[in-house]
Amino acid sequence: MSLQIWINGKLVPKEDATISVYDHGLLYGDGVFEGLRVYNGKVFRLEDHLERLWDSAQAIWLEIPMDVPELVNAVNETVRANGIQDGYVRLVVTRGAGTLGLDPNKCSNPQVIIIADHITLYPDHFYQNGLEIVTVSTTRNHPAALNPRIKSLNYLNNILAKIEGMQAGCVEALMLNHKGEVAECTGDNIFLVHNQQILTPPIDAGILEGITRQVVIELAAKLKLPVREIPLTRHDVYIADECFLTGSAAEIIPVVKVDSRTIGSGKPGPVTGDLTTLFRTATRT
Ligand code: PMP
Repeated sequence: MSLQIWINGKLVPKEDATISVYDHGLLYGDGVFEGLRVYNGKVFRLEDHLERLWDSAQAIWLEIPMDVPELVNAVNETVRANGIQDGYVRLVVTRGAGTLGLDPNKCSNPQVIIIADHITLYPDHFYQNGLEIVTVSTTRNHPAALNPRIKSLNYLNNILAKIEGMQAGCVEALMLNHKGEVAECTGDNIFLVHNQQILTPPIDAGILEGITRQVVIELAAKLKLPVREIPLTRHDVYIADECFLTGSAAEIIPVVKVDSRTIGSGKPGPVTGDLTTLFRTATRT
C-alpha cells in the first residue's frame, strides 16, 4: 500500500500529496519543520518538538492553522495509518501559496504536511567505531541574520556545509559560528567530554536547541556528570577525551577524529557509551 501523507487536514496517498508551485515554502524556503522519531509506535518527545515548531513559526510570523492537540492527533493518526513502529516523522508547515514576490501577506493557506516513514540510519559501523568529521569553511548562519534556533525550511547553510564535509570524505561536518566558536554539525548538536565534565555550546552560540541535546543533558544528571554549556573552540575539541553528536535521526553517535586529529583514545569513549545505554533505555522501553 502506498504511504499515506497527512496534508490539508486529511490523509492521502503519497502520489496525491501535492502543494502549489507558488507555495513560498518552495519558492523561498519560507516555512518551518520538525524531524521526530517513533519508537515502539510512540512519537518520542512529541510535545517538545511541537513547542519548538510553534516557537519557530512565531519567530517568522507564521500562524500554524491548527492547535497543539489537533496536531498531536494528526501526527499520531499518520503514524498509525502507516503502521510505523520504529521510524521517522517529518512535520512541515509552509507559508502557503502566494505571488512570485516575497510578501508573505499575499500567501494564504499555510500547508501542514506530515510524513511518517521508515528511517535510514547511519551504518552500524559508525556507532561501533565512531565518525570522522571535519570543520568546514561555511560559517553557521549569524543569529542576527537567520537565527539557527529557527528550524526553517531554508537549510542551505547546512547543505553547503554538508557538501564541504562530504567532499572531504565525511558524513557530518562541524560548523563554527561567526565568532569562530564551535556551533554545531549540519544536522546534529555536538558534545565534548573533558576531565569528567560534559561540555556543549550554549544556545546563544547560534545553534538549534536540539531535543536530543536536551535529553542528553537530562541523562548526564543521572550519571552525576556536570554539564557545562559554554563557548567552545576547536582547541577544546582537539583536546577532548570524547566527542559525540546528538540528533533525532542519529541519536548519539561517537566522533573519534576531527580535522585529522584523533580524539581521546581514538575509540568511542566510556561516557558516550553510558549515555548511549541510558538513551536506548529511555527510548526503547
Ligand atoms: N542541529 C541541526 C542544525 C539540526 O538540523 C538538528 C536536527 N533537527 C539538530 C541540531 C538536532 O536536533 P534534534 O535533537 O532536535 O533532532
